[in-house]
Amino acid sequence: MIASASGRDRLGRHVVDHDTAASLIAQAKAAAAHAYVPYSRFPVGAAVLAADGSVFTGANIENASYPLTCCAERVAVFHAVMAGQTAIVAIAVWAEKSSGVTPCGACRQVLNEWRPERDDMVVILEGLGGPEHLALADLLPRSFGPRDLDGSRRNP
Ligand SMILES: [Zn+2]
Repeated sequence: MIASASGRDRLGRHVVDHDTAASLIAQAKAAAAHAYVPYSRFPVGAAVLAADGSVFTGANIENASYPLTCCAERVAVFHAVMAGQTAIVAIAVWAEKSSGVTPCGACRQVLNEWRPERDDMVVILEGLGGPEHLALADLLPRSFGPRDLDGSRRNP
């Protein structure tokens, strides 16, 4: 649980403070130790911050039938959803072999499903000078999501 998980900027968007971002990166890094990656040998860890301040982690889990592999981001998100969380404020991603790695396209789509209503999700990467913050909307512009199905499509 992270006490002061996030705030809002002057435009009303979620922001994650430096300490919280650093903590999420550290938890993503720790989660990567649980990766099951005998094929790619590319461990990834992720940590998601739910709207209530709780944190859930995941690591990539591969399979001999390669397409069944699940990325760290989705494992972390599903972990949160199974705990009853439906709004994810931020996700940190860490990969030992690729600093600053971003979520793949499939994970971006899954993340979009769980971003806070009428708000964006902060994607936190390990940058050279510390945590780097990106907006999910910048990684998945003009996304398709639940709002499209209920007829309340927001304008970009
Ligand atoms: Zn992915």
